[in-house]
Amino acid sequence: MQLVLATHNAHKVEELRDILGPALDGIQLIGYDGPEPVEDGDTFEANALIKARAAAVHTGLPAIADDSGISVDALGGAPGIHSARYAGTRIDADNVALLLTNLAGETNRAAQFRCAAALVLPNGFEHTELGVWPGTVLDQPVGANGFGYDPVFKPAGYSVSSAELAPDEKNAVSHRQRAFAAIMPVVRKQLLG
Ligand code: IMP
Repeated sequence: MQLVLATHNAHKVEELRDILGPALDGIQLIGYDGPEPVEDGDTFEANALIKARAAAVHTGLPAIADDSGISVDALGGAPGIHSARYAGTRIDADNVALLLTNLAGETNRAAQFRCAAALVLPNGFEHTELGVWPGTVLDQPVGANGFGYDPVFKPAGYSVSSAELAPDEKNAVSHRQRAFAAIMPVVRKQLLG
């Protein structure tokens, strides 16, 4: 049984294979190279659904997608769904610098990484799950692993940034892991019965 992952990012396909492991037994996760839709939803769930729907329509196969970002309490949830292009450049270091500037002098550093996972079947069935990874925003970037806001995110219960965690450690507890752990039972029920 094939399942399309609605991303052009080969790294994401590999990362998700790692995250899902045995939850993929009997399911072949394949990449997607069809048209990419405009992500104009106003929630993580809406944008994940837009991506999964486009892939399901284009391929005629069941499709999953995710949409993720960081939500900062003191900024009213920003950058949220705009995380990738917060500074206008799509460059991680620019986004991190703008976030630290906007939080200068702010003592409430609470934030969450959020990830919505969406499943869309060719018959119109749709389902989403949201994974949340709580933590705080550091004053300075630290660590070389990961991507995006990892160097300034300290997960709750850890004394290091998520860029200091090994990929396996992060993949075991992250927002993405939580979203896909929640949606995989639904995927397996729909695809395998
Ligand atoms: P997308 O879900 O691939 O569109 O990613 C949205 C953006 O959110 C990324 O470009 C990052 O800036 C941020 N982001 C999402 N997940 C993570 C994460 O695990 N670590 C760091 N940044 C993340």
